[in-house]
Amino acid sequence: MLPVYHTCTETFNLAARQTWYNDAMELYDTHAHFGPNKDETAGALARAQSAGVTRLMAVGGSEDLNAAAVQAQTQNPSAVRLALGADRDQTGLPLDDVLANIRRQHADYSCAAVGEIGLDFHYAPETAANQRALFAAQLALADELNLPVVIHTREADDSTCGVLDEVPWHGSSLRGVIHCYTGTPAFARRLLDRGFMVSFSGIVTFRRAEEVRASAKYVPDDRLLIETDSPFLAPVPLRGQANEPAFVIHTARFLADLRQVSVESLAAITFANAVALFG
Ligand SMILES: [Zn+2]
Repeated sequence: MLPVYHTCTETFNLAARQTWYNDAMELYDTHAHFGPNKDETAGALARAQSAGVTRLMAVGGSEDLNAAAVQAQTQNPSAVRLALGADRDQTGLPLDDVLANIRRQHADYSCAAVGEIGLDFHYAPETAANQRALFAAQLALADELNLPVVIHTREADDSTCGVLDEVPWHGSSLRGVIHCYTGTPAFARRLLDRGFMVSFSGIVTFRRAEEVRASAKYVPDDRLLIETDSPFLAPVPLRGQANEPAFVIHTARFLADLRQVSVESLAAITFANAVALFG
C-alpha cells in the first residue's frame, strides 16, 4: 500500500507545483528536437506554452531533424527559434554536398543559430577526422552568417577545443552554447574561457550524474542555460517517458535547488541568457 500512496502524493504535488510555476515565470527550452508528425509537434508546442515555456529552440542536425525543426518554427514563429545544421552523424556524404545543403537552408529560412554541430567520439570514433572537418566548416559558416552555434561534444574534449581554436574568426566573436553538458568542471572552464554558454538537460537530475552536478554548480549565472534535448532524456521524475519542452521545468527546479536559488530566479537568469544568445 505504501508505495502506491507515495506515488499519488508525488503526482499531486507535481501537478500543484506546475500550476503555481505557470503563473509565476517564463522558461526557455534551448534545445528541442521534433519529429515529422505535425499534430504531435502542435501538441508539444501547446503543452509547452501552458507550462510556461514561452520560448524554445527547435534544433536540427540531419535532413529529417532540420525539416521537423522548420515545421515547428512555422507553427509558432513567435515562440520558436530555429537552428539548422549537420551533426556528427552526417559524415557519410561528401563534405561539400552537406555544406551546400546547409548553406541553402540558411538562405531559405531565418535561423537564430547553426546547429547542432560538433563531435562525438563515443559512438563513432572511426569518423573522427570527418567529424572535425564538418564541425570546423560549420563554425566558419556561423562566423560568416554572424550566428551563434549549438555544439554537441562527447568524449572529445581536446578535439572540441582544438577545432574551436583553429577556426579563424572574422565577424563578431565566437559565441554559442555547449548543449546537454555532461563534462567535468575543468572542461567547462575551458569552454567558458572561449566565451561559450553551457546548457544542462535532464541528465543533471539522474542519480549517478555527480560530475554533471559539480559542473552545474560551477557555471556562473551569466553563462547558464537549460534545455530538454527532447524527445530524449526526460528528467526525473519523468524518466523513461518521451521528453518534451514542457518538462524543462523539472530541470529548472532541480538546478535551482542545486545552486540554492529560487526557481523563479533560475528561470529568469536562464531565460535572459537564452534571449541574449538566440533572441
Ligand atoms: Zn540535440
